[in-house]
Amino acid sequence: MTCASLEKACVSASQVVTRFAPSPTGFLHIGGARTALFNWLYARHHGGRFLLRIEDTDKARSTQAAIDAILDGMSWLGLDWDGETYFQSHFAERHAEVAHQLLEAGHAYRCYMTGEELAAARADAERERRPFRIQSPWRERGAGEAPADQPCVIRLKAPREGETVIEDQVQGRVAVQNAELDDFILLRSDGSPTYMLAVVVDDHDMGVTHVVRGDDHLNNAFRQLVIVRAMGWPEPVYGHVPLIHGPDGAKLSKRHGALGVETYRDELGILPEALFNYLLRLGWGHGDDEIIARDDAVSWFDLGHVGRSPSRFDTKKLEHLNAHYIRAADPYRLASLIDHKVEGALRRGLDARDIDLLARAMPQLTPRAKDLNELADGALFLFRPRPLDMDEKASSLLDGDARDLLALVHDALGRLETWDAETSEQAVREVAEARAVKLGQVAQPLRAALTGRATSPGIFDVLALLGREESLARIADQMTRKEN
Ligand code: GLU
Repeated sequence: MTCASLEKACVSASQVVTRFAPSPTGFLHIGGARTALFNWLYARHHGGRFLLRIEDTDKARSTQAAIDAILDGMSWLGLDWDGETYFQSHFAERHAEVAHQLLEAGHAYRCYMTGEELAAARADAERERRPFRIQSPWRERGAGEAPADQPCVIRLKAPREGETVIEDQVQGRVAVQNAELDDFILLRSDGSPTYMLAVVVDDHDMGVTHVVRGDDHLNNAFRQLVIVRAMGWPEPVYGHVPLIHGPDGAKLSKRHGALGVETYRDELGILPEALFNYLLRLGWGHGDDEIIARDDAVSWFDLGHVGRSPSRFDTKKLEHLNAHYIRAADPYRLASLIDHKVEGALRRGLDARDIDLLARAMPQLTPRAKDLNELADGALFLFRPRPLDMDEKASSLLDGDARDLLALVHDALGRLETWDAETSEQAVREVAEARAVKLGQVAQPLRAALTGRATSPGIFDVLALLGREESLARIADQMTRKEN
């Protein structure tokens, strides 16, 4: 595809264009999601464009499942991209075209070194204990000397003198001696482009102005810049973000939480806005602000405040943010996010009335949950079938004269004309006073009877949520039950 057919992506020079360019060889993990987020924010902050390019040139390792997971994860996080989803493999012809332009302009050469010659050069370097850097005799040889019918690759003629400098927006000024750059391959002998070439060509053709990515690509940036300069193209601004480390300082691994975004969503019960906020704070800061809403993130984000040292993944912080966003979320949205979990645990479906109850219970349930699994778990008592199963702690709350107290409570509540948290509290207090016991001695057995657990939301709220009939029936179940 040429620049003309990338019309939508070709933009005026003044507009910021960023991109996320994942290789679909695995799921969208935390590091990748953060890279996507920073690019999205930078583009949105500047009113620019954020593009998505799937770098699927490694056909053997790219999978449709990984592509789906990436698109899905980004949509879930609300990282919408502009224009179509680009696939690097569609541009292979264009990459080859640029390789040939570099060849014609004398910035690249055909290299006919054989596998054996390369292996011998590598062995020499090893024996002499110096780093291996390709020194192809074909760099200087004329085309006339080319052996007939021998496969060749196209290599970049990298500069050997001087240094290449990048004014990186995150890392500051970084320089490399050109002697350290090698004549890397642009086009393989089968005509396929290398990553190094493809990235540069695509970024140029898509009008990318800012390349923001993990600092594991910093070394590549020097090489890529050589291609950009050889082509006389505008140089992108680079921002290489330090990688994420585990809490122990080691490179982030699965053990630390380097999981696919979908694991956070499906298994760990994290809300997208919580992960968004968490990823934002992972390496970028705005004073001491921990909780940063999406709109504020867009108006405040810059590359200058991305830290230079690796950020540490901290599960506790993520949980803390998640708990915050759960409390702030719309009750019906929460209900729809956990209904399948509740249904799974109950082994029955929830109807519209159940969903209403679930949503109404949210103000009582959310303060007790730091993820959607805990939220679903905390909601189960609302729907459990009678007579309720008592867990061990709840059973122990029904020892002694607890069942007699329950009978008194049942009687007092049964006489109430209005059924809400205040009137029921009044009634239960009166029972406690009449029997000269503390409120807790009545409230705890009541909690056990109503929820089957020793912990639950405030017991008068529970009474209000369950309603008169269900509450009285649950209490009655435990009054008459034999202790075991
Ligand atoms: N496809 C590369 C990767 O997933 C990223 C390339 C880039 O951002 O320049 O690591």
